[in-house]
Amino acid sequence: MNKTTAVYPGSFDPLTIGHEDIVRRSLRIVDRLIVAVAETATQSKSGLFSIDERVDLIREVFADEPRVEATSFSGLLVDFAQGREARVIIRGLRAVSDFEYEFQMALMNRSLWPEVEVLFMAPATRHTFLSSSLVREVGRLGGDVTDFVSPGVKTRMDRAFGRTAGE
Ligand code: ADP
Repeated sequence: MNKTTAVYPGSFDPLTIGHEDIVRRSLRIVDRLIVAVAETATQSKSGLFSIDERVDLIREVFADEPRVEATSFSGLLVDFAQGREARVIIRGLRAVSDFEYEFQMALMNRSLWPEVEVLFMAPATRHTFLSSSLVREVGRLGGDVTDFVSPGVKTRMDRAFGRTAGE
């Protein structure tokens, strides 16, 4: 039987528990999931972690899940997906506000590569307000991000903001 490989692309700066939720839900549907950090940000965001750091954090969080691979890519998502023989693209939908951009991008990707299918996943309700940019902002301003990211991500965020654990 053919195994289904999917790509879950994003900026993941940093990976939040909302992203983790989408990854775990996707694994119920696909056999392998490539979490792919986009090197070229399509939406301008002030970054916190380097691309390599983001990939490392994703690897660390899913160290116990052999079906998840973390990597980065540059250029067109469909070219990357095609090269990896991944015919499914996973995206998370938090709210109606995500919809317009996501829908437009899904149709564009499919016109670039007609064989690809884009699958939208809804996170658990408690994660719908989470975004990496908001988590970065809270962290930058000294707020506690424990509820929004994995412990390893929190440690690295504390370090990035010049704080040590428990401070
Ligand atoms: P962000 O918007 O948080 O910076 P990314 O660009 O890293 O996110 O997003 C990658 C994908 O994950 C997108 O499809 C985005 O909609 C989705 N996503 C981000 N946060 C969540 C969340 N809390 N719940 C569900 N999906 C999410």
